[in-house]
Amino acid sequence: MTEKSDRSKWGTNTRLTHTGNDPKDYFGFVNPPVIHASTVLFPDSATMETNNQKYTYATHGTPTTNALATAVNALEGSAGTIIVSSGLAAVTVPLLAYLKAGDHLLMVDSVYFPTRRFCDTMLLDLGIEVTYYDPLIGAGIEALIKANTKVVFTESPGSNTLEIQDIPAISDIAHKHEAIVMMDNTWATPIYFKPLEFGVDISIQAATKYPGGHADVLLGLVSANKKNWPRLLQAKTNLGMCGNPDESYQVLRGLRTMGVRLAQHQSSALEIAKKMQGMKGVVDVLHPALPTFPGHDLWQRDFKGSSGLFSFVLDGGGSRDLWRAKAHAFLDALQIFGLGYSWGGYESLAVKVSLSDRTIATEPGEGPVIRLHIGLEDPADLLADIERGLAAANSIA
Ligand SMILES: *Cc1c(COP(=O)(O)O)cnc(C)c1O
Repeated sequence: MTEKSDRSKWGTNTRLTHTGNDPKDYFGFVNPPVIHASTVLFPDSATMETNNQKYTYATHGTPTTNALATAVNALEGSAGTIIVSSGLAAVTVPLLAYLKAGDHLLMVDSVYFPTRRFCDTMLLDLGIEVTYYDPLIGAGIEALIKANTKVVFTESPGSNTLEIQDIPAISDIAHKHEAIVMMDNTWATPIYFKPLEFGVDISIQAATKYPGGHADVLLGLVSANKKNWPRLLQAKTNLGMCGNPDESYQVLRGLRTMGVRLAQHQSSALEIAKKMQGMKGVVDVLHPALPTFPGHDLWQRDFKGSSGLFSFVLDGGGSRDLWRAKAHAFLDALQIFGLGYSWGGYESLAVKVSLSDRTIATEPGEGPVIRLHIGLEDPADLLADIERGLAAANSIA
């Protein structure tokens, strides 16, 4: 293998293939072992008294969880990564780490709904003030910053409606006012967008999605820059959060193929999104890589690629009852797309999204928003499925 000094020059797929394990540590076996553990033994009382060994107790890390965290750090360019039990926990743990009673949080209005629910329930009960802001606000966020603003939370593209945020502009303003910036980067993964390189302090991923990649794992990852790593690690330790060995192993395994999987998700989704633009019954296709999408220029400036998740606006044709009937007709006619939550696995999924909680990035007026996850099936088969769905929707008047 190449000398260690060359690793910093490695490309993404080389990093995905060769980080997070050192076969020499495990008799040459390519993959690290899955360590199931609580107790770690010390050789003598002096070592125990000083905790002077690499592993001390499994909540603080095992060779399996460290292998995953090391691989993620190499991808993110982060100082440290914590592993938590779900993508949602990867959102709530850093918020709890950085906010206390009397603090103010700026939260993007197009955020993943359970993040919003956490803000409106637990953070509110803890005495934390939350203001939702327009995903397209950019540097205009300065007008919303207060003396007690501690965190600016971003998610780009926006959940379900895919708005692209100007992350560097928002980060500059936040830092000027000594607030830290968190980003839920689940859509792009650090392969297509590296938050820490754009001024974000804390990068969040639902590893449940592309890193896992097979709809069989729940896991969350939170990566911090050098300045913010001690506080994040402290919160993880105080809260008793720790990565589960089997899930951590599955995600590490998923990372090995994430580059090639994403490339296929990207090309299939883009091909389908482009073709859908001309289809009867489709009012709008919300995909950042389409030149007609409002956030396209920002996406092109900052992102290295697009993933398999996008939405479209179905022609609703009038009353809300008709919207609903048409959306159900579309979904019920699908034979390959599954109806289900989550995404990032190998299979295609469709869901009618609800935007009723939004106050700024609200529902388009023309019809319901349907979100598609384009899996690894043949695009021609998926297109035929979409045509089938649209024909069913169009037949309802
Ligand atoms: C799915 C998702 C999450 C939550 O992940 P879970 O593992 O399902 O809890 C968080 N953020 C975004 C953007 C997601 O898509």
